[in-house]
Amino acid sequence: MNKSTSSIREQMARTQYREHSTPMFLTSSFTYDSAEHAQAMFAGESEGYIYSRFSNPNSTELIAKMCTLEGCDNGVTTASGMAAIFNTLAALLKAGDHVVASKALFGNSLYILQHILPQWGIKCTLVDIGNKDMWESSITEATKLVLIETPTNPSLELIDIPWLAERCHNVDAKLVVDNCFATPIIQQPKTLGADIIIHSATKWIDGQGRVLGGIVVGSEADITPIYDFIRRTGACMSPFHAWLLSKSLETLDVRIQRHCENALALAQYFEQHKYITNVRYPFLSSHPQYDLARQQMSAGGGLVTIDIQGGQEEAFRLINALTIPTITANLGDTRTIITHPASTTHSKLSREAQQEAGILDATVRISVGLEGIGDLKQDFEQALQKIGKQ
Ligand code: PLP
Repeated sequence: MNKSTSSIREQMARTQYREHSTPMFLTSSFTYDSAEHAQAMFAGESEGYIYSRFSNPNSTELIAKMCTLEGCDNGVTTASGMAAIFNTLAALLKAGDHVVASKALFGNSLYILQHILPQWGIKCTLVDIGNKDMWESSITEATKLVLIETPTNPSLELIDIPWLAERCHNVDAKLVVDNCFATPIIQQPKTLGADIIIHSATKWIDGQGRVLGGIVVGSEADITPIYDFIRRTGACMSPFHAWLLSKSLETLDVRIQRHCENALALAQYFEQHKYITNVRYPFLSSHPQYDLARQQMSAGGGLVTIDIQGGQEEAFRLINALTIPTITANLGDTRTIITHPASTTHSKLSREAQQEAGILDATVRISVGLEGIGDLKQDFEQALQKIGKQ
């Protein structure tokens, strides 16, 4: 069965009411027929559920669908994307271990690597994502885990996943990919050689700005220690969020196709625009890694990053003149979102770190929504004209 079909049709067993839509199992615990049944459940000798911190039918369904989409065996759901990242690192690493990571990671992931893990004797080396020599020299026999995002946010740089996976496996390190920006619809890191895939389901997986959630998927052997850690320490996903996110996966394929079509069309329009000096989008032939993008992604994703003529003043003027996009601290929504990274999402970075991450005062990131492309272009056109008029 086609993966998209599975993400639509794959459903847990129905209850005696034969409901069409999956019911929500808002229960903290599950019951047994007898003391012997309870004993067998706790001994792992009987199939079923015990307690929703361990597992719940709604999270089981969500995990099954994500595993199908990502080509993985098993997974675990978490309260947020950060819980997925933190618990994966905490479960797999111990004092004395070494981690290598891309400098172009989500800020809170960098914070964990730079400020939390070192307190526990875990060292981290940060690498410029595009510098292959730096990756080669940083990954050593001591390296246990490598963490990347590709494409990156907001500069939309890529890393060659099969190439990096080989470097990791030469020293028995796990390659962990935060696949948040691509989604499994356009990139499946596991099939490209990565070991563990993480999602902030808050973004495109939900896709409608409603809930926080995280998912980690991988092989049975890689997921077991992460599942055991989360089961005991409690960063689990609520059944309600699992139910909602599982329903969201039924529309993920069509949503992502439309996000990508709209994003490519906007990127092409921006490329021709006299008030825009640079457009970053992986499926534009002008993208420096266009060939790699075509190899490991089936579409360019829903984010487009532009540099406009001028600086912060002009960027703010553009943002304030737009009538359709929303100014908010999220991405991956049905509704287009506009962000000025230098003054918001990436404002905690030093000036130098911002520049290294490709963030200028004139940089604006657009998370392209599902609105009519004609309406979006018209809105950007009227707003861009305001830059020229002052
Ligand atoms: N990973 C990436 C790439 C993100 O952009 C984010 C949030 O923006 C996260 C992880 C964290 O996810 P959450 O906000 O669900 O904790």
